[in-house]
Amino acid sequence: MGNVNRKEILDILHGYNQDDVTIATLGSHTSLHILNGAKEEGFKTAVVCEKGREVPYQRFKVADEFIMVDKFSDIVNDEVQEQLRDMNSVVVPHGSFVAYAGLDRIENDFNVPMFGNRDILRWESERDLERKLMIKSGIRIPNKYKEESEIDRTVMVKFPGARGGRGYFVASSPDEYQEKIDSMLKRNWIGDEDVDKAHIEEYVSGCNYCVHFFYSALKDEVEVMGMDSRYESNIDGLVRIPAKDQLDMGMDPSYVITGNHPVVMRESLLPQVFDIGDNLVEAAKDLVPPGMNGPFCLQSLVNDNLEVIVFEMSARIDGGTNTFMHTSAYSYLLFGEFMSMGRRISREIKTGIGENNLDAIIT
Ligand code: ADP
Repeated sequence: MGNVNRKEILDILHGYNQDDVTIATLGSHTSLHILNGAKEEGFKTAVVCEKGREVPYQRFKVADEFIMVDKFSDIVNDEVQEQLRDMNSVVVPHGSFVAYAGLDRIENDFNVPMFGNRDILRWESERDLERKLMIKSGIRIPNKYKEESEIDRTVMVKFPGARGGRGYFVASSPDEYQEKIDSMLKRNWIGDEDVDKAHIEEYVSGCNYCVHFFYSALKDEVEVMGMDSRYESNIDGLVRIPAKDQLDMGMDPSYVITGNHPVVMRESLLPQVFDIGDNLVEAAKDLVPPGMNGPFCLQSLVNDNLEVIVFEMSARIDGGTNTFMHTSAYSYLLFGEFMSMGRRISREIKTGIGENNLDAIIT
């Protein structure tokens, strides 16, 4: 837990005019539908925008206020924080906010009320903590190998931190592992310190489903809001080349995210999805109190035994929610109206204000 004091945040929140709250975020990642959804719910909106990046927010008309900064990381500067507080802002964190502001500064210096659980952001960013949470929840995850000598089937090798899949590789024996590591070291793609931290896990052969959940702390209910599958380079292009030619080309697959497709799942798999979401919410209550609060996402692979195997978790809004800036099949089922994840967040904040219980969902 960092130095940002919960009491101080609540004092700031209690000083706000709660009839005049602004929903603010950093202009990147999922900010278009976070801000658009806030407007749909009747809030004022503000974007903290890096100079030169303002066009989408102007042209899609989602921001009432622009706080211009030289670089994204300036969102944690004192003057910017003050401007945000002056507007009665609740900040919605997303992947780019966490990456640019940095976990240390979010935990220690960012004295602006945020939606969600501030402490859980570190749990999804650090692979060991993330794994601890997933193990505690009892959900099916890929087996982990302690060292390369144990490799007895195809594995996926990952390096520290989310790199959008860059530099991940597949190997099927200790020799192949060593060969690929040597070649990456030679090309300076990784350093010796990365090799020590290489994470080796079972390669799951299946189809990709990233499930976007929303946990309403106000209702104590887990909602399935939408799903996407990843569109990754070059693996998704590689599969269009006949296998025989792939061998001739000698290309290595990579898993760099370039976009997302909306997707729906076979209906018979949905009970597993709800179980996984419910279990994760329960585990998070114990490990990182008060637990999940708002959006979280589980990236899974579904194999031909129809098992949903979760290989990654985010405990904040995920980029794949951009596939339903209007609505998804699932959020429409639940709400009977168009509901993006961005709008869902603002709906929760509005409910919190209406029930005089905003404290419960602010961190
Ligand atoms: P990052 O967090 O850096 O974006 P991910 O853990 O999401 O990286 O992995 C990137 C991609 O690698 C995934 O979308 C998936 O295609 C593939 N992948 C990850 N783990 C596995 C695994 N255990 N088995 C098979 N493919 C995997």
